[in-house]
Amino acid sequence: MYPRQQADVEETRMSEQLALLYELQLTDTGVTERKRALAGLDKGTAARAELGAAEERLAAAEKKLQDDTSALKDKELRLSSTEHERREKHSQAYGGTIADPKRLAALEQKIEELHRLAAKVEEEAFALMDLVEQETAGVATVKDEVARIRERAEDVEEHYRMDKARLEGEIAELGVKREELVGRIPAPLLAIYDQLRTKLGGTAVAAVDNYLCKVCHNSVPRDVVVRIPKAETPIRCESCHRILWVPEGEE
Ligand SMILES: [Zn+2]
Repeated sequence: MYPRQQADVEETRMSEQLALLYELQLTDTGVTERKRALAGLDKGTAARAELGAAEERLAAAEKKLQDDTSALKDKELRLSSTEHERREKHSQAYGGTIADPKRLAALEQKIEELHRLAAKVEEEAFALMDLVEQETAGVATVKDEVARIRERAEDVEEHYRMDKARLEGEIAELGVKREELVGRIPAPLLAIYDQLRTKLGGTAVAAVDNYLCKVCHNSVPRDVVVRIPKAETPIRCESCHRILWVPEGEE
């Protein structure tokens, strides 16, 4: 084998390893991003709390309406019994059976009292009727509100379920891809990669673009760019210390 050919083999090997390492970096970054997105998803907790509060308002409004409706029914019964009694007394007084003027006067006074009482109860019943009418409308409004908030809460929850399933699916796919890549990268290079990721905030590999490190944006000298694909050990950025990778066709 000629020395020239040997050099070509070495070059291919390092540049391939770096390409795989860069792909691994993209995979790991992808997982990190999706995990962050998962943690930031709106689970609908706030919407559920809002719905709970609206349901409580509705229950209170319905209870008040129920109480006032039964109070109105009581008033109506009282009014009808008062009027019944007044009519009875009236028949007694003017049926021609009572001759005693004192008894008649007492009866007339009673009739007058019942008349006033009926007027008062009737007034109270009218006020309650107004109240019940307003409260019925109020309950309908709160019911609409509850339905609207429930729909929104369910919408948020459905989006949460969908986004969660999608992100978890993507994370699982990236996990499979990672396994496959890890199996093709030499162990010592992986060890450096893992160490650098821990130290450098998750990014261990930087692509070189137009003689610049794409992570820290510092310049990478032309002779270094030329050496990167054929070096025996990975060359790192002088500034940010990440492993440099030159995409094919870059130099
Ligand atoms: Zn750099």
